[in-house]
Amino acid sequence: MPASIRDEEAATASSASPERSNFIRDIILDDLKTNKYHGRVQTRFPPEPNGYLHIGHAKSICINFGLAAEFGGHTNLRFDDTNPEKEEQEYVDSIIADARWLGANWDDRMFYASDYFDQIYEWAIKLIQDGKAYVCDLNAEQVREYRGSLTEPGKESPYRNRTIEENLHLFERMRAGEFPDGSRTLRAKIDMASPNLNLRDPVMYRILRATHHRTGDKWCIYPMYDFAHGQSDSIENITHSICTLEFEDHRPLYNWFIQQLGIFPSQQIEFDRLNLTYTLLSKRRLLQLVQEGRVRGWDDPRMPTISGIRRRGYTPEAIRNFCAAIGVSKTNGIIDLAMLEHFVREDLNRRALRAMAVLRPLKVVIDNYPEGQVEELEVVNNPEDASAGTRQVPFARVLYIEQDDFREVAPKKFFRLSPGTEVRLRGGYFIKCTGVEKNGSGEVVEVHCTYDPATRSGNAPDHRKVKATIHWVSAEHAIDAEVRVYENLFVKENPGDVPEGHDFTENLNPNSLEVIANAKLEPSLASANAGDRFQFERLGYFCVDPDSKHGAPIFNRTVPLRDTWAKIEKRQQESR
Ligand code: ATP
Ligand code: MG
Repeated sequence: MPASIRDEEAATASSASPERSNFIRDIILDDLKTNKYHGRVQTRFPPEPNGYLHIGHAKSICINFGLAAEFGGHTNLRFDDTNPEKEEQEYVDSIIADARWLGANWDDRMFYASDYFDQIYEWAIKLIQDGKAYVCDLNAEQVREYRGSLTEPGKESPYRNRTIEENLHLFERMRAGEFPDGSRTLRAKIDMASPNLNLRDPVMYRILRATHHRTGDKWCIYPMYDFAHGQSDSIENITHSICTLEFEDHRPLYNWFIQQLGIFPSQQIEFDRLNLTYTLLSKRRLLQLVQEGRVRGWDDPRMPTISGIRRRGYTPEAIRNFCAAIGVSKTNGIIDLAMLEHFVREDLNRRALRAMAVLRPLKVVIDNYPEGQVEELEVVNNPEDASAGTRQVPFARVLYIEQDDFREVAPKKFFRLSPGTEVRLRGGYFIKCTGVEKNGSGEVVEVHCTYDPATRSGNAPDHRKVKATIHWVSAEHAIDAEVRVYENLFVKENPGDVPEGHDFTENLNPNSLEVIANAKLEPSLASANAGDRFQFERLGYFCVDPDSKHGAPIFNRTVPLRDTWAKIEKRQQESR
């Protein structure tokens, strides 16, 4: 639904910052003013189906779908499937599901570059006929050698001056499968001395015997990216072909092909790739993590893939708000991962129901509470949203609290439970610690308390104060759960930063996943379904994992509550 992307952006635009304009929007506004495309705005999102989408692609999706929708235009989904060796149907399917989940809507405009192979082939023939392309017998290594470098001009291929007839004939034979893979290419005849290496007779077609996930074995020659992308844009009458900065140097070639062919002049515009600290956004490297079993799969909640962060509990709204906030620019930078997490928290704070869960349980016995008695305490489901209502939580004589919330000897500034201190239990009574029981190795295994029946409302009639409120669950009513606690997948801010000869996997965080097998949850969570998101009071946001079975729930920690980004922002504002 581009509508929702639009609404969301409009909402953020008015609240977050009054000036949401950016250079791409300005170009479109200008084109509308000069009537360059007769008022039309048509964009596309062109993933290569060689891996799952990641958060970087989300930025591109928001820009492409968001801008088109803003100006009443359309966005196509187009699979850039010109490299059959790396592409698969599984990736096509995941890309469709993930882009939809993010809110992208392309109606019936889903295309494949491979749909255009016949047309692209004809255009190659046209360029040969016009003397603008030739069949070259240099192999890949020789082509590289002849290409020269940034400081040296290239050398012309000895095959550059073949006759048009010979080129037509050879190209036809390439297509017919008469030559081995890699033995010949079709190249554009441009300028081997051009300062732009992309214009030094770039390869247009290569011979490759690989079964394509859509065209099967129909072709044994495939067009290169540069001779497929702009052509596909043109076929679809794309007005603004928005891509990342690494294609800036390809733009002259993009335009050259369009001019020589005299086809619809789509306009390429480049923006900065999203880079995130502690994160790698490269399908090739993410694939390596999957193939080497470093993660559980493309949708492992530690992965920056859309399917990974969805499983982890991120919302599409949070991702879109984040993308709107980072904006677009003409220079590559790096965004703090904490900023993405900030938007996840901000959104979940609004929508996630609260619940109580104890991850590392410590037994508490309330000695003056009648054995066998159970009370239902009423607690609010979401203080941010009155319409979420309240629920009942059972309270009884034996509870679990978090081990961290108790210290036998309280250090300075530790205000939670310790012998002699009184704390509030979330949703009700004050309890006071009267003693502990230890096991053979001296560890506290049970804490004894008394409760004050007059504090059921959470306040004391004599107005005495407590310094902490802690969460708890009733031992007899609690349900058991597995909780998967995640940390950054990499320990280095720039995980790709490794010495020569080393691999980025050396920067993996050995503690990125901690499995807590015996967490105790309040009983209302028994009815939660895969994908449901909650705030576990005082701990963070958690999401039910699809691995959950009835009676054996598994929760993923989405983000802890602590918002480091908010702190960074505050510091920035103070120093301004
Ligand atoms: P990767 O390097 O992860 O394989 P890619 O650029 O090869 O990415 P494509 O499938 O070709 O991936 O990308 C589809 C679209 O998404 C392209 O227009 C590309 O520019 C854009 N895109 C890819 N990565 C990012 C990113 N990190 N930030 C913004 N846009 C991106
Ligand atoms: Mg690519």
